[in-house]
Amino acid sequence: MSKKNLVVIGYGGMGGWHVQHALDSDVVTLLGVYDIDPARNALAESRGIHAYATYDEVLADDRVDMITVAIPNDSHEAVCIRAMEAGKHVICEKPVTLSCESLQRMCEASRRTGRVFSVHQNRRWDVDYLAMQQLADSGEIGEVIRIESRIHGSRGIPSDWRGIKKYGGGMLYDWGIHLIDQVMLVIPEPVVQVGCAFDHITNKEVDDGFRLELTFASGKTAYVEVGTYNFIAMPRFYMRAQKGTALITDWREPCQVVKCKYWHESEVLPVETAAGLTKTMAPRDEVTTDTYRLERPTSDVHTYYRNFTAAMDGTATQLVTHPQMMRVLQVIEAAFDAAENNRIVTCHI
Ligand code: NAD
Repeated sequence: MSKKNLVVIGYGGMGGWHVQHALDSDVVTLLGVYDIDPARNALAESRGIHAYATYDEVLADDRVDMITVAIPNDSHEAVCIRAMEAGKHVICEKPVTLSCESLQRMCEASRRTGRVFSVHQNRRWDVDYLAMQQLADSGEIGEVIRIESRIHGSRGIPSDWRGIKKYGGGMLYDWGIHLIDQVMLVIPEPVVQVGCAFDHITNKEVDDGFRLELTFASGKTAYVEVGTYNFIAMPRFYMRAQKGTALITDWREPCQVVKCKYWHESEVLPVETAAGLTKTMAPRDEVTTDTYRLERPTSDVHTYYRNFTAAMDGTATQLVTHPQMMRVLQVIEAAFDAAENNRIVTCHI
């Protein structure tokens, strides 16, 4: 398979990330970047990276096989559709766009032009998520009952376009889109109920954190929480299953598992709490449980681009599919409805 010629659109934080990884990729060759801000183009040139003068110039360059779009969220649709119409395959940064209607137009452009179009759900290759996914898939602790996924910081929402509604700011579109995608892969069932509440601690215009509760068709549940005003972080993942519980305190830490070996204990000693006594909440002994840590999964940052370019050649199907992209956005829309109207949304997503 020959390498594909790539141009990165938007040379900001994430555009820089794509450029850096494209430079040591075994499947793409970086032809250059284009940023609407001449200062960013000049910076690219100063680093020895070719900068196109206009977007039209990128689209007119027949050598360009594919583009990666890393610009503010509200501009994704127009830029991606124009590229597909010019014959380029498109990787779009997340959130792919701001509404399901808009995504429909983008997917329609992909079908019409026959170009591969996908969203960069790179956090499917985060090792913390992979540990949870692999544990759930293995059945080692039985069927998942509930997964809780949290990401906590303490710096508020960034003061750039991410804090402004018309650019598609807010944490639900930002981290939310990743964490929702992940839990929907761990529990592969239709979502039938969505509840959501927003934080507005450092920003009144967009959510600077949220708490989202999903109920799936069989009654399993997922909780997703993003906070940007948490000076003590809660654990990254907590998963309850039929035969045990798993915990990841922090993405740098391995997954801890406590598996139930025997349900019944011969003798439960009550524990004294500060002003009382409990048997129900007494810790279990080592006879009835196994406690261990899972080896951290391995992950390769280039997997996404390898799959995308193989899909361009028709030798693989794309890992991040249009129906998956649509389902995540449908949940996001339901979450906005739930938060803004203070209600639980029933659905079949
Ligand atoms: P940023 O503000 O750092 O950079 C955006 C760049 O796009 C700026 O340099 C800006 O001048 C340029 N730009 C704006 N409109 C443009 C246009 N029409 N054509 C060309 N250039 C244009 O923002 P960022 O953090 O790099 O975010 C960019 C995108 O990447 C967003 O969609 C964001 O959600 C996403 N992102 C994804 C991840 C991830 O892990 N997948 C992480 C961060 C950001």
